[in-house]
Amino acid sequence: MSLVLFGPPGAGKGTQAARMIREGGKFHISTGDLFRGAMKNNTPLGLEAKSYVDSGQLVPDSVTIGLVKEVLENNRGQDFIFDGFPRTSPQAEALEKLVHDMGVSPIRHALFLEVPQETLLTRLTGRRLCRDCGAVYHVEASPTAVDGKCDKCGGETYQRKDDSEDVISTRLEAYAKSTEPLKEYYQKKGLFVAIDGQGDPDRVFARFQPYL
Ligand code: AMP
Repeated sequence: MSLVLFGPPGAGKGTQAARMIREGGKFHISTGDLFRGAMKNNTPLGLEAKSYVDSGQLVPDSVTIGLVKEVLENNRGQDFIFDGFPRTSPQAEALEKLVHDMGVSPIRHALFLEVPQETLLTRLTGRRLCRDCGAVYHVEASPTAVDGKCDKCGGETYQRKDDSEDVISTRLEAYAKSTEPLKEYYQKKGLFVAIDGQGDPDRVFARFQPYL
């Protein structure tokens, strides 16, 4: 069965999805990671997404839905974790149709990670990533042993352009306007589950266990 993982930026979706993948058995789709990868490689998709991602706005639905469709087509028969997708009502409707039309394993739960706004800001402004392996750190909560150097692969760590304070406010606005309504969408479908995303990532992950 497939899972949708959603919530505000900085809620910990990527961190929790990585743990779910480690448990095995599911294929991870993170639209944010796919856009960043395409931007890094200067593909047509990356060039199209760049201005939206860098400014904290949502990439248009047609582009995002097309991208997810392509990944599903290339990975038929998998159980998926949809991480950061859907983020709008048209995306949620499109996903439902794709799952039906493409015979994707049905969505069992839409797991919503709940974190207060002040915690989101602290997490996002302090977040650092490895350029090479994508490992995620935080300058205070989980710093690298050597400043600017990834503990896992020695790659350089950096701050995402969209983790700067001015862009974060645009991302939070986009979340409130377009993604928050999905709570009601999934409540009506009987798929909604709220998970407390505060505290240590291991403790948060334990709260997911009944739904995996
Ligand atoms: P994330 O890594 O999930 O925080 O996403 C980073 C950025 O990628 C977002 O601020 C958007 O610009 C873009 N993005 C990721 N997922 C979506 C989506 N489902 N719909 C539209 N834009 C997205």
